[in-house]
Amino acid sequence: MQSDFLVIGSGIAGLSFAIHASKYGSVTVITKGKAIESNTAWAQGGISAVLDKAKREMGDDIESHIADTLGAGAGLCKENAVKAIIEQGNETIEDLVNAGVQFDKNKDASYSLGKEGGHSQRRILHCKDTTGFEIATALIETARKIENITILEEHFAVDLITTAKLGIATEDKIVGAYVLDETSGQVKIFRSDKVLLATGGCGKVYLYTTNPDSSTGDGLAMAWRAGATISNMEFVQFHPTCFYNPSAQGAEARSFLVSEAVRGEGGILINAKGEEFTKQHDPRGSLAPRDIVARAIDHEIKKTGASCVYLDVTHKPKGFMKERFPNIYETLLKFGHDCEKSPIPVVPAAHYQCGGVATDIDARTTIRGLYAIGEVACTGLHGANRLASNSLLEGNVMARRALDNIIKTLPHKQKNPIPINIPAWEAGHAAPPDEQVLISHNWDEIRRLMWDYVSIVRTDNRLQRAARRLRNLRKEVREFYWGHTITSDILELRNLVATGMLIVDCATRRKESRGIHYTLDYPEKNELFLSDTEVRRF
Ligand SMILES: Cc1cc2nc3c(=O)[nH]c(=O)nc-3n(C[C@H](O)[C@H](O)[C@H](O)COP(=O)(O)OP(=O)(O)OC[C@H]3O[C@@H](n4cnc5c(N)ncnc54)[C@H](O)[C@@H]3O)c2cc1C
Repeated sequence: MQSDFLVIGSGIAGLSFAIHASKYGSVTVITKGKAIESNTAWAQGGISAVLDKAKREMGDDIESHIADTLGAGAGLCKENAVKAIIEQGNETIEDLVNAGVQFDKNKDASYSLGKEGGHSQRRILHCKDTTGFEIATALIETARKIENITILEEHFAVDLITTAKLGIATEDKIVGAYVLDETSGQVKIFRSDKVLLATGGCGKVYLYTTNPDSSTGDGLAMAWRAGATISNMEFVQFHPTCFYNPSAQGAEARSFLVSEAVRGEGGILINAKGEEFTKQHDPRGSLAPRDIVARAIDHEIKKTGASCVYLDVTHKPKGFMKERFPNIYETLLKFGHDCEKSPIPVVPAAHYQCGGVATDIDARTTIRGLYAIGEVACTGLHGANRLASNSLLEGNVMARRALDNIIKTLPHKQKNPIPINIPAWEAGHAAPPDEQVLISHNWDEIRRLMWDYVSIVRTDNRLQRAARRLRNLRKEVREFYWGHTITSDILELRNLVATGMLIVDCATRRKESRGIHYTLDYPEKNELFLSDTEVRRF
């Protein structure tokens, strides 16, 4: 398989890139599972942007969006990245509207703008509470109509292929990827000199997460194995309000997110006694930035021994939730909870990966020809904490910036990439895996240990314990990986271990508390650590 552009992942980042790049050459988009299975499709709250009209009429401006983003990022944002991404908000909205997204409007036909934690203004465009699904559907439909784009579902990228891996002595360049066809079980070579990593985040490395099953850190682990620099993986954002539903079956029921926009519209966090406990931690109460709210809940749960806290919307007028948040309202009802009658039980859960594959402001990684866009990347927009609703924006903007850079710097129309002899995938003497129990046991173990030792509140001791156990698991998984025919389960397990180790490694190096990295051993910020944590495999 050969194409001018190889895109791995079919969320907002991968598809935005594919649609624009198709004007310049052939694009292959590979995605594991179905194209709609992505974090993008699960996004609820919306997408932040300062629109020209809002700027004029509502007193919002680019500078205050930048200031809010820098404020959340706790000193680690890269100002050039923040500025470049936020300044392109208008273009992103136009781009999505052109793809067919219909954002909610007011009666006067202006966009209805929501507010979320950490934002000083109303600037979140939304499609009720299924913004991500509308965006994902529109982009998939648009891409499917473009002749130059081939979308291959059930195609799982196993590893990146670089000149260094092939032992070719030049500057390290990307030349393609090994890809498992999940239907036939064959591993194929996909050849391209321009590879876009758009594989999303890694929420599944934690026991409790708001992410869908596809978020297993594959792109991050592949880039790390290929020798790319990885940054800031200690910064994992925990969403404060995931529906607490311990007896539920199935990914959606276990990880159902109650959007921050609900608090933006007046929802209040309370404990079992009805007290607004978040006010003791921050004067902004329920609308303080996510890290503060998540820690406040963690503290409350540990202090009281309760299993959860509550998000109260019972004071809102009857019918409000059904009208403004129909998906949340109906889904909760489906799980047996009427949020208009009683407060919603909630717990924090792993939500967003702020670190990732290090890129510059044009999405370039440290390997030539390999670009990382969307949640898998660390551009410097989020720093030590992401401002709500900035990630859909980042995915689209960085896709367009990556393409601009490719057009300027790389020969984009290359019918015959330089001939390179890439060895076929060596299946060896591997037999089909018959020890499914080992895979599922190790999956559970990683997710539980990451939750217990490496989640909202950390200590050196807990991190060391996690590192020891992850080292053992890595050994076991390696033996299993090399001894058996590969399946997506084994590949995800291998990537989860690598992701866990990267989080622990980065967290261990940061001897301070900043943004969403909080450790009891170093509870204050320390200016000595006012820089990115970078790790690389040699
Ligand atoms: C419940 C929830 C609510 C959210 N709400 C908001 C919000 O309101 N606003 C906001 O800005 N952000 C929100 N986010 C975050 C936002 O949705 C994501 O950060 C963003 O959608 C990431 O887009 P992406 O294109 O980088 O990755 P994704 O949308 O996750 O897409 C990644 C794609 O890569 C594929 N893939 C992964 N590994 C492989 C592999 N090995 N081989 C082939 N394909 C692979 C996946 O199957 C998927 O198609 C939310 C996230 C969640 C989970």
